[in-house]
Amino acid sequence: MKCNFQSIFKLIKKMNRNMKNNNGTALKNESQKNERDPFRILITTILSQRTRDENTRQASQKLFSKYHDIKSLSEANAKKVESLIQQSGFYRTKARSIISVSKILVDCYNGEVPRDFNELMALPSVGRKTANCVLVYGFHVPAIPVDIHVHRISNRLGMVNTNNPEDTEFKLRQHVERRFWIELNEEFVKFGQRICKPIKPRCVICDLKKCCIWYKDQRMK
Ligand code: SF4
Repeated sequence: MKCNFQSIFKLIKKMNRNMKNNNGTALKNESQKNERDPFRILITTILSQRTRDENTRQASQKLFSKYHDIKSLSEANAKKVESLIQQSGFYRTKARSIISVSKILVDCYNGEVPRDFNELMALPSVGRKTANCVLVYGFHVPAIPVDIHVHRISNRLGMVNTNNPEDTEFKLRQHVERRFWIELNEEFVKFGQRICKPIKPRCVICDLKKCCIWYKDQRMK
């Protein structure tokens, strides 16, 4: 097989499809459930910071069952929000961020989420990954959200050689054709959760061994 991005990506998608549990990520589910509501994607991405997908899913379900829109969240009681999102961890900080983001959107953006990367980045608790997630999952605009999975897998496979997610994003933007950007995060995250795990990746069942620098390095040890 060729070890270019296109061939690798095709195999990652195939392996994901063949997994018994091929559910989408919390963001993909949220995006599909609510016809890409950028506000829900923004809040779900804030909830997903430093926690597992399952916790994000449960916290966002609870939160949106009580607060259905930006306006209601902008007026929400912090303690109430904290209790609803407790499962996502760092819930006090996240509750404060969610309420203050909602207030800014109501006061400055007429209750809409901006579609502009720099405007998103100016919101509290929104970094590059979150802004890119909102573009991809909320607006279907090509972007590359780089989380720990995308960073780890890209480095293991030798697509990039970087020390942090930001550099990984810049390198991937240079080397990956734009037509793959929208799907990249979703497929890499699923692959990282099920096969190319952070600890003890399941190389035995992985079809990418021939292209994987990390795998070759381990064999040399
Ligand atoms: S061979 Fe192992 S380390 Fe390499 S991509 Fe596959 S699962 Fe990940």
